[in-house]
Amino acid sequence: MTSRIVIIGGGQAGGWAAKTLRDEGFNGEICVVAEEAWDFYERPPLSKATLLEPDASLPRLFTEEAQQALNLNWYRPLRAESIDRGAKTVALSNGESLSYNILLLATGGRARLPGEAWAKHPQVYTLRHWQDAQRLKGRLAESKKLAIVGGGWIGLEIAASARKSGVAVTLFEQQPALCMRSVSGEVSQRLAAIHHEYGVEIRTGCGALELEDEGGLPVIHCDGKRETFDAVVVGIGVDLNLELARDAGLQTERGIVVDAQGRTSDPFIFAAGDVAQHHHYGLCIQSWAFAQNQAVATAKAMLHSDAPGYDDAPWLWSDQYQHNIQILGIPQPESTTVVRENSLFFSLDATGRLTQLVAFNDPRTVKLAKRWMAAGRDLSEVPLADPTFSLMSLR
Ligand code: NAP
Repeated sequence: MTSRIVIIGGGQAGGWAAKTLRDEGFNGEICVVAEEAWDFYERPPLSKATLLEPDASLPRLFTEEAQQALNLNWYRPLRAESIDRGAKTVALSNGESLSYNILLLATGGRARLPGEAWAKHPQVYTLRHWQDAQRLKGRLAESKKLAIVGGGWIGLEIAASARKSGVAVTLFEQQPALCMRSVSGEVSQRLAAIHHEYGVEIRTGCGALELEDEGGLPVIHCDGKRETFDAVVVGIGVDLNLELARDAGLQTERGIVVDAQGRTSDPFIFAAGDVAQHHHYGLCIQSWAFAQNQAVATAKAMLHSDAPGYDDAPWLWSDQYQHNIQILGIPQPESTTVVRENSLFFSLDATGRLTQLVAFNDPRTVKLAKRWMAAGRDLSEVPLADPTFSLMSLR
C-alpha cells in the first residue's frame, strides 16, 4: 500500500492533486515541496483583481480550513534539487532527503526575459507569482507610462488592467499579430481592435528590442525609436521547469512526456500542470483548466491504475476590459475561420470539424461547441456566420 506521496510544486496542479488524493480516500502522508512560502493560490487574478483592487488578498485555491483538512507536510520555501529514481528519494535544497512511494512533478515554469540587462533593471517586471503582482501593483500606482513586451495573454490582460488604472500603455510584440500562436488571424485582429479602442498603442513586428537606463527609468529602442517608460512588464512566455525530470532521465520533449493518466516514463513518477505534455496534442497546454483537471485525473490514477485518463478539450479564458474571451481547442494552420458578428470565431478543418472556437462574451455557445467537438460533428454545411440562424437549434 502506498504510504507516502511527494508532490513537487505548490501551484494550481500541486494543490488540486493534493486535494484529489484526500477526496479519493488516501490517508497516507502527502509531502509538498514548494518554492514559495504561501498556501496554494490561483494565478488568474494576479493580472486583474490583484492589480486593481486596493485590498486584494492572496487568491487562495482552498479556504484555510479546507487546506488544513488536507493534512499536508509542507517543505517550503525549498527547492527539490534532484531525484534518485533507484532509491526513490528527492534531495532538497536544505540538504534533506525525502523518500517517496509515488512522486508527482508539478514544477510549472518561470517567466522568460529577453536578456541579462532586463533581469537586472529594477523597473522591469514579470508576472508569475503573488509577490510579482505585489511589486507590479506598487509600481503601477506611481506610473504614467507602461511598456509591455509580448502581446500574449499576460501582456493583454495587464494592458487592460493598466488602462483601467489610467496608465498609458505601449505594447511591443515580435510577431506580426497578437496571440498569433494561440488564435487565428481574425481573432488577433479583434483583440487588437479592442485594445486600440481603449487606447493601447500596439507595435507588432517588434522583437529586436534593446533596453537602456536613463536616470533609473527603462528606455526601449525599437525600429530606431527610443522611448522612456516608468516601468516595463515582460510577458514573452515561460521556460518550463523540466530540469529535475531531465536530470532524472525521464522522457521529455516540449514538456515531460506523460500518458493520459499523467504517468511519466517511470511508473512511480507522474507529472501534472504546465510541465506535463498533453498526451494527444504533444504540447504543453499552459492553462488554468488543464492545470486543475489534468492534475485531478492524474491524482486519481496515482491511486487507481484503472482510473479514466484526462480527455478534456483544451479550453482557456481571458478577461479583458468588459470582455470575457473563451478559447476552446487548438488552432490548426490549415483551418479556415468563419466569423459570426465579430464575436464568434469558428475554425473548421477540411472535413468541417471544429478545431477551435473563440467566443467573446458567449459562454453558451462554448458549451454547445464542446459537444460538437467531442462528437466530431461536420459543420461545413451549417450557416455559422448567418446571425439569423439559431446556433441553439443545433443542440
Ligand atoms: P504567450 O501567451 O506565449 O505570449 C508571449 C508573446 O510574446 C508571444 O506572442 C511571443 O511571440 C511574444 N514574444 C516573445 N519574445 C518576444 C520579444 N523578445 N519581444 C516581443 N515579443 C515577444 O506568453 P505569456 O503571455 O507570457 O503567458 C505565459 C503563459 O501563461 C502562456 O502559456 C499563457 O498561455 C499563460 N497564460 C494564460 C492566461 C489565460 O489563460 N488567461 C493568462 C496569462 C497567461 P512568439 O510566439 O514568437 O514567441
